[in-house]
Amino acid sequence: MESRTALVEDLMERFPHVPREAVVKEDLLRGGIAFDDSALSGNEDGDVKPKSYFIFSFDHGTLPELGAAALRRPPEEIVLTGGPYELRRTVVSVRVNPASPWRVVGSELTLEGRPVADVELPPMPAYYRHTLANGKTVMETAPTIQWGYLIYLTVFRVCQYFGAKEECQYCDINHNWRQHKKAGRPYTGVKPVEDVLEALALIDRYDTGQVSKAYTLTGGSVTSTVDGLAEADFYGRYAQAIEARFPGRWIGKVVAQALPKADAQRFKDYGIAIYHPNYEVWDKRLFTLISPGKERYVGREEWHRRILDAAEVFGPRHVIPNFVAGVEMAKPHGFATIDEAIASTTEGLDWFMSRGITPRFTTWCPEPTTPLGQANPDGAPLEYHIRLLHAYRDALGRHGLRPPPGYGVAGAGNAVFSVSSFMDTLDPDEVTVEEAVPA
Ligand code: SF4
Repeated sequence: MESRTALVEDLMERFPHVPREAVVKEDLLRGGIAFDDSALSGNEDGDVKPKSYFIFSFDHGTLPELGAAALRRPPEEIVLTGGPYELRRTVVSVRVNPASPWRVVGSELTLEGRPVADVELPPMPAYYRHTLANGKTVMETAPTIQWGYLIYLTVFRVCQYFGAKEECQYCDINHNWRQHKKAGRPYTGVKPVEDVLEALALIDRYDTGQVSKAYTLTGGSVTSTVDGLAEADFYGRYAQAIEARFPGRWIGKVVAQALPKADAQRFKDYGIAIYHPNYEVWDKRLFTLISPGKERYVGREEWHRRILDAAEVFGPRHVIPNFVAGVEMAKPHGFATIDEAIASTTEGLDWFMSRGITPRFTTWCPEPTTPLGQANPDGAPLEYHIRLLHAYRDALGRHGLRPPPGYGVAGAGNAVFSVSSFMDTLDPDEVTVEEAVPA
C-alpha cells in the first residue's frame, strides 16, 4: 500500500498551483491528527487554548475512544511552519484521530514518524481566564476559533432535524451534545442572551489587540420554535442584543436554514452582515439523501431560490452558503469517481458564482457516530480535496470574483480559516472589515 508520505508528495508534485500548505492541511482535516501527551493542553488551567467543541465533535472517535485527549483536551488549532516542505504559516483546526499517521509530538508535526513541520500551539487567551458571574466559562459560551478571529456562538446546541430521516447524514451535532452531557462537561443547550453578552464583554475587554473581528450565530435548525421563537427571531435576537451593546465591534454572521425572504430581511434588520444558508451538497439526488431534513422542510430548489432571494437582501457577496467538501464521494450513495464529484460541485459553484454569490466549504470530517462517517471512516480521497481547491480557485477567476468577505486575508501564509484550506489557496486579497459590514 502506498505510504501517506508518498501520497502527499505525489499530489504536491502533480498540483503545483495548489500550495503545499493546503495539501498538508487538507490531509490533516480529512484524516485527523494523533497527539502525543506532551502536546495536549491543561484544559482551562493551562497555557494552551483547549479545543472547545464549538459545534460538532470534529473528531474521529467518541470521547471515550480518545484516551488522554479526552481528559486533557487537545489544542483548538495548531499553526504549522517550516520543515522539509518549507511551509508558510498555516492554521489548522484540530480533529483528533489516535490512529492517524500524522502526530504532534511536543512542538513538531510528524508524518509516519518523520518530522514535517514546526508546531505552534495557540496561547490561552486572557478572556478564557475569566468566568461569567454564574460560573460559566467564556470557552463554553463564546469560544473563538480561526486563531482568535471568529467568535463562534453556537447558541442552540442541538438540531430539530432529528433521527435518520431528518439529520444530515454527516452531522453529529445531536450526538456531540449527548456525549458532552454524558461526560459531565458544561454544554448549554440554549445559551441565554445575557450569558452571551457577558462573555462578549469579557472578550471585548481582554482582546486588547482586537484580534477578534467577527462572530457567527449558529446551531441546529429550528423547525418549530425555541423559547417560543421561530428561527429568524430566535437567532436574530442575539444579533439585535449584540449590536445594541457593541455596535459595529464585530462582523455579524448567521448560519441558518434558507429562510423566506422576509426572514432574511429580519436577519439584516437585526444587524447581521453575512448570511450562510448552507446548501451542503450540490447534486440533486445526493442532497435528498444526505440532507433529508432540508429536503423535507424546504426542498432543494426552494433552498436555492431562497439563497438568491437573500442575495437581494444582503447583496450577493454577503450571502456565503457552505458545502461540506467530500460528502459527495461518500459511500453508499456518492459519486464513484473524483471526476464526477468535481464536475458536479463545479456545476454548483458556477450556478452560484455566475450570480455573484461566493460559496465556501468546510472539509468533511467523517465523525464515527454519523451514517456517512461509519460507512467512510477514511473520508474522501485526498486527491478529491486537492482538485476541489483547484476547481474553486478556477471558478472564482472565471466569474471575476474575489475571496468572500469576513474571512480575513487570503493566501498561503496569511489565511486563518481553519476548517478548509480554500483561503490558503487563493491569492492574497485583503477584504477589509469595512467591506464586510455593508452600510
Ligand atoms: S441542519 Fe443538518 S448540518 Fe445543520 S445542525 Fe441540523 S443536521 Fe446538522
